[in-house]
Amino acid sequence: MFRYELIGTDGGARRGVFHTPRGPVRTPGFMPVGTLGTVKGLTIDQVAATGADMILGNTYHLRLRPGHETVAALGGLHKMCGWDGPILTDSGGFQVFSLGAINKVTEHAATFRSHIDGAKIELTPEHSIEIQQALGSDVAMVLDHVIALPAPMTQVEDALARSIRWAARCRDAADRQDQALFAIVQGGLDRTLRQQCATELAAMPFEGYAVGGLSVGEPPEDMYTTTGFTTPHLPADKPRYLMGVGTPRDLLENIARGIDLFDCVMPTRNGRNALAFTDEGAIKLRNAVHKLDTRPLMEDCPCLACRHSRGYLRHLFVAGEMLGPILLSHHNLMYYGRLMQQTRDAIEAGQFETFKNAKLAGWGHEPFHETASH
Ligand SMILES: [Zn+2]
Repeated sequence: MFRYELIGTDGGARRGVFHTPRGPVRTPGFMPVGTLGTVKGLTIDQVAATGADMILGNTYHLRLRPGHETVAALGGLHKMCGWDGPILTDSGGFQVFSLGAINKVTEHAATFRSHIDGAKIELTPEHSIEIQQALGSDVAMVLDHVIALPAPMTQVEDALARSIRWAARCRDAADRQDQALFAIVQGGLDRTLRQQCATELAAMPFEGYAVGGLSVGEPPEDMYTTTGFTTPHLPADKPRYLMGVGTPRDLLENIARGIDLFDCVMPTRNGRNALAFTDEGAIKLRNAVHKLDTRPLMEDCPCLACRHSRGYLRHLFVAGEMLGPILLSHHNLMYYGRLMQQTRDAIEAGQFETFKNAKLAGWGHEPFHETASH
C-alpha cells in the first residue's frame, strides 16, 4: 500500500513520490506541523492551499489532549481535523525527552509526567504504536531514546542500542496494514554510530527512514555533514525524512544530501512572531521601516498576506490583531510550499545546484539565523 517512486536524481538530490492509500506525497516535500490536530491559526483549506501533501500530528500532545481514545471516538485524526490527505505522527519520544518531563528510562519504557496535570504515564514502544494506531495516521514513527547532546560516548551508545531494540518492538507491535512505519536513525554527530544505526535499521522492514537527533542546537554545517554521511547507508527505494528541520537553507542543503521530507514549526512559529520568509531573507514586520511601505511581502506570492501592504501587516502586529499571525503563518507556509515545488522542478530540469546557489545568494549571509525552531 506504500511505495516510494524515484522519478529522477540531480547530484545527491532526489525527485520522487511517496504513494500512500490517502494519496501521493511529492518529494522533496515539507510537512506543516499540526501539533494538536490543528496547524496553528489556519483552516485546513488554507493549509492545503500552500501545496502541502502531508501534515504532521504530535502523539505526545494528542495523547494528553484530547486523548487518543477521544480522537478515535471522534472518527480519527483525519475526520477530526478535516484533512483528507496523508498524516504522519511522531512517536512522542522527542517531546517526552525534550520537555524535561522524563521521570526514568528503563529497557521497558520511558516514564514521564504529563505537563498538563502531572499524571504519571508509561510510554513503551508498544503504547506509542497503540496511540498512533488509535489516531489513525498514515505514517507512524518508532519510539526512540533521545538524549541531550553533547553526552559521554557510553551514554550515546547505550541510547542508540536501546533505540534499535525499541524500533524492533514497534515493528512487532504495528499491525495496521494501512499505516506505514518509519524507523529513526540516531547517533549524534558521530559518523561510525550513524552508519551503524542506519545499517542495522535498513536491514529491518520499514516503509521509510528518518534521520533524528539533529537541529537541536548544533551548527548547521555539522547537521549537513551528518546527513551527508548517513543517507548513503539508507535504502534508495524508501523515503528519507529529516525530523524537525529547518530553515529554507537547511532544506536545500539537506535535499542536496539525499533527504526527501521535512517538518518544522519554523514557518508558523515565526509567522506568529511577525517574521516573514522571502527570497531576500527574513523580514521583521514590527520594524518601523515598514510603517509606510505599500509593497506586499513578495510580488508574486498567492498567499492571503500578500494581498496586503507591508504597512498594513505591520499595523496588525503593532495593534495585537489576531489576523497578523494568521496572515503571516499562511505566507510562511506558502513560501515553504513554493520552495519545495521550485526545488522539484529544478531537480527534474537538472538545475538543482544552480537553483540552490541562486536562492542562497538571495537569502544573503547567515540566512534566517534569527529564526526560532523550538
Ligand atoms: Zn505571501
